[in-house]
Amino acid sequence: MCGGVPTELINVVAAGGGFAGTETIAGVNDFLRESIRFYPHLTEDLVRVVLVHPGDVILPELGPKLGAYAQKKLAERGVEIRVDTKVVQVEDDAVELSDGSRIPAQTVIWTAGTSLNPLVAKLPCKLDHGRIVTDEYLELPDWPGVWALGDCASVLDRKTGRPYPPTAQHAVRQGKTVAKNVYAAVRGGTKKPFSFSTLGLLAAIGRRTGVANILGVNFSGFIAWFLWRTIYLSKLPRFEKKVRVALDWTLDLLFTKDLVHFLDLRPPTVSHAEEEAHSSLVASRR
Ligand SMILES: Cc1cc2nc3c(=O)[nH]c(=O)nc-3n(C[C@H](O)[C@H](O)[C@H](O)COP(=O)(O)OP(=O)(O)OC[C@H]3O[C@@H](n4cnc5c(N)ncnc54)[C@H](O)[C@@H]3O)c2cc1C
Repeated sequence: MCGGVPTELINVVAAGGGFAGTETIAGVNDFLRESIRFYPHLTEDLVRVVLVHPGDVILPELGPKLGAYAQKKLAERGVEIRVDTKVVQVEDDAVELSDGSRIPAQTVIWTAGTSLNPLVAKLPCKLDHGRIVTDEYLELPDWPGVWALGDCASVLDRKTGRPYPPTAQHAVRQGKTVAKNVYAAVRGGTKKPFSFSTLGLLAAIGRRTGVANILGVNFSGFIAWFLWRTIYLSKLPRFEKKVRVALDWTLDLLFTKDLVHFLDLRPPTVSHAEEEAHSSLVASRR
């Protein structure tokens, strides 16, 4: 409680300072701080938005320089960043951290990694960190005619000697390679090895700023945010969807966030049979 306000209702904690955690906490922070002025009994200093990250800098995939930039920008906007720290326990109204501190919060955003479908672990094939090991053609070495791709597959990048990262950029291109290789295997042709270099990584960190690495070049600030929007817009399927989103994003530049919330609360429904049974019960008691 702070000045009679239960702070655990306003505080938000995100576990994991990767792309999902950082982008989400930046958006939540902007949303809360922009909305607070519509609630006269609340003040901005009551809001606590915390990003907990086990490494020494957030957004590790983008390198320490962009990670440090993102940290600085978020901290300037009031996000509390706890590096070298992990969430160890989540309770109903508090979050416990590895440094022993407790943050009163009922809203916790978990972005500390995803796990594969448990089915993969049961497959009788070679796994690397839980992912199915394939050869360069995305075929399972001991299982000719069986292919794996995307997040569930561990495909070695021969340039780096490490598996390709689990991103959509890779999954989509692996899909095309597998399609061609299945065709080649069935019709008799030459299979194509999978080879792809990450084109870029982008993160929006709120208030029209972003961080990006495109083809090895670092961008930050408004230009990175603009690239983020333009690139993701271009990836949307169908022209109609692109126009709808582009219009929405344009209006977003002119107006503040839409805070209207329609509560979908309904009274409990009672069937005619239940109503009749209730009426006859009441009548019989008279
Ligand atoms: C929050 C978040 C943000 C991300 N942002 C980005 C980004 O900005 N850029 C980027 O490149 N990548 C991003 N990624 C990663 C990207 O989403 C994945 O790399 C990509 O979706 C992998 O594709 P996939 O087809 O291997 O797996 P998925 O897209 O997960 O598809 C697997 C499908 O298989 C289905 N399935 C599961 N089990 C079974 C079963 N037993 N039988 C049949 N179907 C089953 C699932 O329902 C699902 O539809 C993000 C991921 C997350 C979680």
